Amino acid sequence: MPAILELSGLTRRYAGLVAVDSVDLAVTPGTIHAIIGPNGAGKTTLFNLISGITPPSEGQIRLLGHTVTDEPAYRRAALGMGRTFQNIRIFAAMTVLENVLTGLAPRFPGGLAAVIALLPSLRRAERSAVARARDVLDRVGLLSKADTPAASLPYGDQRRLEIARALASAPRLILLDEPAAGMNPAETAALALLVRKIRDAGTTVLLVEHDMSFVMNLSDHITVLNFGRRIHDGPPGDVKRDPRVIEAYLGPKVAARLAAQRQTTPGP
Ligand code: ATP
Repeated sequence: MPAILELSGLTRRYAGLVAVDSVDLAVTPGTIHAIIGPNGAGKTTLFNLISGITPPSEGQIRLLGHTVTDEPAYRRAALGMGRTFQNIRIFAAMTVLENVLTGLAPRFPGGLAAVIALLPSLRRAERSAVARARDVLDRVGLLSKADTPAASLPYGDQRRLEIARALASAPRLILLDEPAAGMNPAETAALALLVRKIRDAGTTVLLVEHDMSFVMNLSDHITVLNFGRRIHDGPPGDVKRDPRVIEAYLGPKVAARLAAQRQTTPGP
């Protein structure tokens, strides 16, 4: 199956530092694909390159068969890419419903003339936007709070609201940047259910996350970065056994000690 997102040789340099170093990546449609790595590994930079916030120094990005390397963020969004951010970015003074409406691209069937003349098509477009926003809120479990000011939502719900806004434009691929950050265990469990539901409804999920048990239980595929380089790429079962990953997270001394212990411990 052709990849929904394909990166080849993607590189971003900052002065003397290579934040993302020749990364190749293929995201299979219909999967939950996680990008992990220790602090400073280049995960956020990679997300910013993919979504068009940061231009690459080298390499290529293909989205749904289109080369988008030099396309601005809004063009990538129009092609079917949605995104949430590490820090919550909601409009606190707006209601939950209004926040989701901001994620909907305006669709005025009659064009500018219809807007000026306030033709019925405009009202129809508004009604359909509200219906779509309510549908998305239902999918993320926030419909009962549609008229609540966003600022009064508990933290976990604010994160769900961000996901709802990103889903409003019906993306084919959604990028979730540390979606479980700051969540309690109950919120994290509910989030895992939601992410699965998003995938099962046909949106491919690419996420960056620090919570290892969340990632291991949820992902179909994991890519590990360290110092900007891709050091592992495969199904979750293989990640914990890869010596390069163990070394990246625990350092060379601890990794060597663990390897020595494994060699001296008799097998089952
Ligand atoms: P964390 O898990 O801590 O969020 P990360 O894996 O997301 O880290 P990045 O934030 O992508 O890592 O940073 C990768 C490297 O690039 C780091 O060394 C960081 O200091 C550097 N870096 C990121 N953005 C810039 C920038 N705008 N200017 C200079 N260096 C940068």
